[in-house]
Amino acid sequence: MSTGKRVVIIGGVAAGPKTAARLRRLDPAADITIVEKGAFLSYAGCGLPYYVSGVIGEQKHLMATPQGLVRDAAFFRKMMNVTVLTHTEATRIDREGRQVEVRSAEGARWLDYDVLVLATGVKPIVPRLPGIELPNVFILRRVEDAEAMKALLAGEGAKNAVVIGGGLIGVEVAEALVARGCRVAVVEMLPQFLPILDPEMALLVQRHIEAKGVRVLTSTTAERIEGAGRVEAVVAGGQRLPADLVLVAIGVRPNSDLARSAGLEVGPTGGIRVNAAMQTSDPNIYAVGDCAEDRHLVTGAPCFVSNGATANKQGRVAANQIAGFADPFPGIVGSAICKVFDYAVARTGLTERQAREAGFEPVAAIAPGPDKPHYYPGAKLLILKLIADRATRRLLGAQAVGPGDAARRIDVAATALAAGMTVDQVAHLDLCYAPPYSPPLDNLITAANVLRNKLDGHLHGISPIEVKAKIDARDDFVFLDVRTPAEHDAVRIPGSTLIPLGALRERLGELPRDKQIVAFCAISLRGYSAERILRAAGFDNVHVMDGGVAAWPYEKASRQ
Ligand SMILES: Cc1cc2nc3c(=O)[nH]c(=O)nc-3n(C[C@H](O)[C@H](O)[C@H](O)COP(=O)(O)OP(=O)(O)OC[C@H]3O[C@@H](n4cnc5c(N)ncnc54)[C@H](O)[C@@H]3O)c2cc1C
Repeated sequence: MSTGKRVVIIGGVAAGPKTAARLRRLDPAADITIVEKGAFLSYAGCGLPYYVSGVIGEQKHLMATPQGLVRDAAFFRKMMNVTVLTHTEATRIDREGRQVEVRSAEGARWLDYDVLVLATGVKPIVPRLPGIELPNVFILRRVEDAEAMKALLAGEGAKNAVVIGGGLIGVEVAEALVARGCRVAVVEMLPQFLPILDPEMALLVQRHIEAKGVRVLTSTTAERIEGAGRVEAVVAGGQRLPADLVLVAIGVRPNSDLARSAGLEVGPTGGIRVNAAMQTSDPNIYAVGDCAEDRHLVTGAPCFVSNGATANKQGRVAANQIAGFADPFPGIVGSAICKVFDYAVARTGLTERQAREAGFEPVAAIAPGPDKPHYYPGAKLLILKLIADRATRRLLGAQAVGPGDAARRIDVAATALAAGMTVDQVAHLDLCYAPPYSPPLDNLITAANVLRNKLDGHLHGISPIEVKAKIDARDDFVFLDVRTPAEHDAVRIPGSTLIPLGALRERLGELPRDKQIVAFCAISLRGYSAERILRAAGFDNVHVMDGGVAAWPYEKASRQ
């Protein structure tokens, strides 16, 4: 379809250029202009931590096509017949006159539009810390930020680095800085690191990153940044942490300023309110990407998530709509993945806390296991957590951590969430199987079955966090390890009593009937069998520790 519409797009990183590229393919006559206040276009912001670490060797790789063409203004002009104005900021929208004011070094002018697309992204949250303005304190959002960090690392260097904020970007950059030879501390104000996960899953990742030499301080607030002429330390929780480099990564909020000042509706999350066609409250103005408010498919509520994949999808939807093809965007389920040294960390849907806040009664299961049959070379551990609603058995969320293939399981879970499946339906999915790729019962299906056992009352679970609290409170209970003596010798949880599963039936007399028994094994499959044996023998206060030794995020002992 050829509309000849004048389409002005504000923002030139992900959602904006995607809108332009798709629209050009559909509408050869549209007059398309991208306005970008920065210098760079269509770059991979998600690749910046890997550019800092050196995994991505050259800046141009962040913004080049697979054929090596850099996506600059000339590229957009030649390849797509799209005009790009860089170093140009959109400052005002005149909705009546359908014009947008733009300012550059040459001054201000008005651009006429038939359709305006806002793809203005996010604004980083910058804490008002004394010393935040010191040299070598960074925020990583733009290519220039990465260049400045790289210049410091390559020049005078940084022995010590402090990352303020233990979210996805903080964790990715912590790894990058370790790769660049820094001693890194991560300061997180909340009681848990990586709040996109439930606490016990986040603790497993914390142990992994600590084993790689990163110091993690949770429940710790950065109070000030100190230095004379350049950063020297971060004072957090009363401690002085030496720092030659500081990264501040405490979050972002939608950049809806332009929309707000034009009187467009902004939702409760601060994102620009849009319909499924990505139209704002003014049908001639669209909003796409991080600046637009999303709808969560599990809760039905508005939400805000910064996500490069969603930004691209929404750009495509808006372009389709502008060109006259309906392509409604249904919403998101909050999927995210991140590399943390040797672990993949992935999640989708709701955490247990989010599920409770949304009014569900969540029931959760943790299922660790190899991501291929244990006999097949290269099988790696994956710890999977699933959450479902007790009343409806609907899947609410999934999380995966470990060296195994997390993306595949979380992507299937995300699909199940979008389809509104129950855990029973997930357990019966026809997923591919061959030993080089997965166990016969895929990790996701096993996790769904563990959760069904819980929902059906066959398995009574207790989380490792609850068990640790019982140990710390010196509760009188039996912490029953049903693995083999060899496994117990190799690694054991302090305070546990060993009765191997094979000997349990003849040693029932050693167990008290008036105390709680918490059984576990390597992954809690034998722990589950132990519960069944004990309950059949009349023990009625028996629980199985979710995930067994594999998912125990606290101290373990070993005799060797
Ligand atoms: C370090 C890092 C790692 C990330 N990793 C991942 C990841 O692994 N996976 C993932 O899904 N997401 C990741 N993200 C998030 C992802 O980059 C964003 O979701 C995505 O870039 C959003 O695209 P966008 O086009 O909506 O907004 P942005 O990329 O924020 O682009 C908005 C652009 O609009 C311009 N602009 C704003 N206002 C104006 C104005 N008034 N006039 C002119 N121009 C304006 C800005 O200069 C900016 O260039 C990461 C982000 C960062 C910073």
